[in-house]
Amino acid sequence: MLEQVHVGPRSLDAYRGIAPNDLIDDLLSASKDFKGARVAHLNATAYGGGVSELLRSAIPILNNLGLVAHWKTIAGDQRFFQVTKKIHNGLQGAPHDLTEADREAYLSTSRRNAKLFEEDYDFVFLHDPQPAAILSMHGKRGARWIWRCHIDTSTPNPNVWSFLRGYMTEFDAAVFTMKKFVPSDFPISNVDIFPPAIDPLSPKNMSLADDTARPVLQWIGIDLDRPLIAQVSRFDSWKDPSGVIEVYRMLRREFPLLQLAMVGSMALDDPEGWDIYHKIIDEVRRDPDIHVFTNLIGVGNVEVNAFQRLSRVVIQKSIREGFGLVVSEAMWKTTPVVAGNAGGIPLQMADGVGGLLVENTEECASAVRSLLMDPSRGHELAHRGRERVRRHFLLPRLLLNELRLMKELAAGRGIRDAAWRSTRDPVCGLPVRPDDFTATVDRQTFRFCSDTCRSEFLRHIQQYRIN
Ligand code: UDP
Repeated sequence: MLEQVHVGPRSLDAYRGIAPNDLIDDLLSASKDFKGARVAHLNATAYGGGVSELLRSAIPILNNLGLVAHWKTIAGDQRFFQVTKKIHNGLQGAPHDLTEADREAYLSTSRRNAKLFEEDYDFVFLHDPQPAAILSMHGKRGARWIWRCHIDTSTPNPNVWSFLRGYMTEFDAAVFTMKKFVPSDFPISNVDIFPPAIDPLSPKNMSLADDTARPVLQWIGIDLDRPLIAQVSRFDSWKDPSGVIEVYRMLRREFPLLQLAMVGSMALDDPEGWDIYHKIIDEVRRDPDIHVFTNLIGVGNVEVNAFQRLSRVVIQKSIREGFGLVVSEAMWKTTPVVAGNAGGIPLQMADGVGGLLVENTEECASAVRSLLMDPSRGHELAHRGRERVRRHFLLPRLLLNELRLMKELAAGRGIRDAAWRSTRDPVCGLPVRPDDFTATVDRQTFRFCSDTCRSEFLRHIQQYRIN
């Protein structure tokens, strides 16, 4: 059997008054059709990175809603994870092609995992490329299969994409975080769009009083009488850790007391993490005010919570980013964010809330500088950011999107249910309310989560209208 990650119970009720109550009610009502339904989520690792973060929170709530939800991880050796990281990088546009030996390593491990996946389910979600080939080897066995892609696949390396694409044809549906991530030759038409979300009650995001958060960081050597900026991320070149160090160095001339924390988790399925970690350590060796931490020395969820709360500015200098949970995490804590204008980040910070979007290192340094010099502006942006996260990027909303997709697949309708579509932003797939942003075209009214989505819709109207 595949390894099951046991996550314990949690109640949706606990989210009342934190996430919007209308979303919680909609979720409860959507779940009525699924009492006893068996759902499996498969990914590559139980810790490290955004997918494990999501599943850790989602699975207990699905069980609380009456489904039988299991989180399973596939097994692979280092060679397999080297290849899947190469696939991940290729899907995000890196130039390295897969060799014949790479393909064989991926397929032979996929075959083993397909055999280990013994139990039967009604719905199976495969997350990202690591488990994606399992369906073709396992067969559907009566379940609906969904490929959930968390990465930016808008301009994939053709060699890597043509290989993976061959394993996509049998899925009943695929979910992407943004419409622009869907490769133009994606082989199935049932494609849904909705972004991930954060768990406001997890130790990483729960409220944490200053008199708890401060000693947590002081204990690991941070001087909170001096300004602190931080990036919390896997050590991954798409997150541009060298760029973050450069930004800090540019700013140190003006802010000689500035400290930088680079907080990175090591994920089982990301063998490049250590190489990048060692590169960073080499780069910062002579500067005691750059602090590099990993989960392996005990800097875990509560410490991340404290860093995201007590940094003057949180940086997320991504060049490519599927979504970047860390952006919503920092916004939820009303800390201003300076982030690369990449992938799912601008959706989180739509309409300029939460902080500032930047295109390069110079802009990043200048944005951080402006927020360090004008904390009240940062404060105002951050408060609007928290409200956007509350409304759109908390866990119940994600689960509602997933259950509605499952409902449409169970009904054999494909993703076309008009009633559900009319309550969703046609650009980003988020559920919207009548009082949100609207545009009326040919006497049909569309609703949006933000002015940014409305403008995008009006600019590319043919792409987003489905009649
Ligand atoms: N994270 C963590 N400790 C770290 C660095 C990152 O717990 O030292 C978490 C971070 O808080 C976030 C997740 O790992 O919840 C990363 O998700 P994101 O979507 O930002 O990026 P991914 O790793 O999936 O590319």
